[in-house]
Amino acid sequence: MSSQMLDDNNPTQDNHDQESHISSHHDDEPSDTWGRLISLRPHYSVRPLTEDRIEFGRKASCTIHLKHAAVSGLHCTLINKGSAGVFLTDHSTNGTFVNNVNIGKGKSRQMHHGDEITIIKIQPERITYTLQLVDREKKPLNELEKRYHVGETLGTGAFAVVRHCVDTHTLKEYAVKVIDKKKYMQLSSSKRDTSLMDEVRALQECNHPNIIKLHDYVNTDRYLYLVLELVTGGDLFDRIVAQDGKGFPEEDAKYMFSQLLDAMKYLHQRNIVHRDLKPENILMARKDSLDLRVTDFGLSRVLGEGSFCKTLCGTPQYLAPEVLTENEGGSQPKTRSYDKAVDLWSAGIILYILLSGLAPFSPTHDDPGRLNRCIKAGRYSFPSPHWDRVSSHAKDVVRSLLQVDPTKRMTIEQAERHSWMMKQTKRKATDNGEWERNGSATKRRTGVANANGNGNGGAQQAAAAAAQVMPVGAASV
Ligand code: ADP
Ligand code: MG
Repeated sequence: MSSQMLDDNNPTQDNHDQESHISSHHDDEPSDTWGRLISLRPHYSVRPLTEDRIEFGRKASCTIHLKHAAVSGLHCTLINKGSAGVFLTDHSTNGTFVNNVNIGKGKSRQMHHGDEITIIKIQPERITYTLQLVDREKKPLNELEKRYHVGETLGTGAFAVVRHCVDTHTLKEYAVKVIDKKKYMQLSSSKRDTSLMDEVRALQECNHPNIIKLHDYVNTDRYLYLVLELVTGGDLFDRIVAQDGKGFPEEDAKYMFSQLLDAMKYLHQRNIVHRDLKPENILMARKDSLDLRVTDFGLSRVLGEGSFCKTLCGTPQYLAPEVLTENEGGSQPKTRSYDKAVDLWSAGIILYILLSGLAPFSPTHDDPGRLNRCIKAGRYSFPSPHWDRVSSHAKDVVRSLLQVDPTKRMTIEQAERHSWMMKQTKRKATDNGEWERNGSATKRRTGVANANGNGNGGAQQAAAAAAQVMPVGAASV
């Protein structure tokens, strides 16, 4: 954790260090520098811009010479038109992207400070730059920009954008989550910014191998920036999609589930209830590993799960039945004795998906009310063939977690002591190269196939559910 947290609300803070750092950082630059290209991939470097026309391309004569087959001879040009602005023109075959949007061959667009220019989109060759405009620096830099170069977008959520960033002092890489406080407050059941900050302070205290670390934060009037540990393995949702609807081998599922339990136990001991546990909020440490990190926790506490999960997620697929029932009564969430049990329900859903590649409860177009009814009745099945190879012990854990009555639901301690968990978990499943991604992930968040029965349970329904089952990756919208 950084010793010097930046907080607009803290008038005692001394910014002198950052100011002097910023000027010294560019001391050796030519005096006619009008902008900079910060290359974040593949290598971190800063290129001052002095020429009024900058050519990017494969031709040796280009100002920015890129020796890659996917780059056009002349790929794009960046032109400084003085007071009229800075413009980027695309000449390429494969596209030039500004903030992930293709400009289009022969077209131009005006560029702004902080825009992200991408020449090659695909990994690992990805070539991307952040543009800094020097004039902009005459205006005060915000507290985040003083310490971090902010780069490409890694993901977007309902009220936040997550971007890659580099500490200008240490050159260490992080992810910065930019939370639009105005949007957040509109959706929040709490109107107090201070409760958001209380939450951030609680997160600062968390230090667990399976929880994304909060490294630093910057709080301005409009935005809250959370500087987080950077992970590179994508999220669990994409991992599930990449399994092609098959679910993980039981030992791998167990390994991931045990990490999830560890993280939950740690949070619950600190009275932090996640309330929004789902595969999108579980990040994978690396592409070649099953090590996971829980993220996006605690913030939902200030929102209240009703507004959070219904408004933001659109579907209550991972939401415990008692939360659905309570919200129907129109009451705001209160402190309840069974609070923590909502996370165990979500963990049950996640374990179900890990083992089978199916979701126990998912929305249907023809009957929107059915999802809520199934959840509240705990109506789901273990359809064949997806569950055929799953052990009865594993099913028992799922069943004990998906208990509608929160007081009867399995606790973390009970889960840890369950015979399925006691059997040696295959630690570090990937260290021997056993696990690998099997296909490319298809993005979108409704992609886990449905497995809930149609109302009265039994083998017929299970068979019907199995017939509806689609490979997870094919169900994207
Ligand atoms: P939201 O609260 O808007 O849902 P999340 O914290 O879940 O935001 O992040 C949204 C997405 O951004 C994630 O699904 C992931 O793709 C990406 N992301 C978030 N945090 C990190 C991180 N620490 N490292 C890498 N990518 C991240
Ligand atoms: Mg999220």
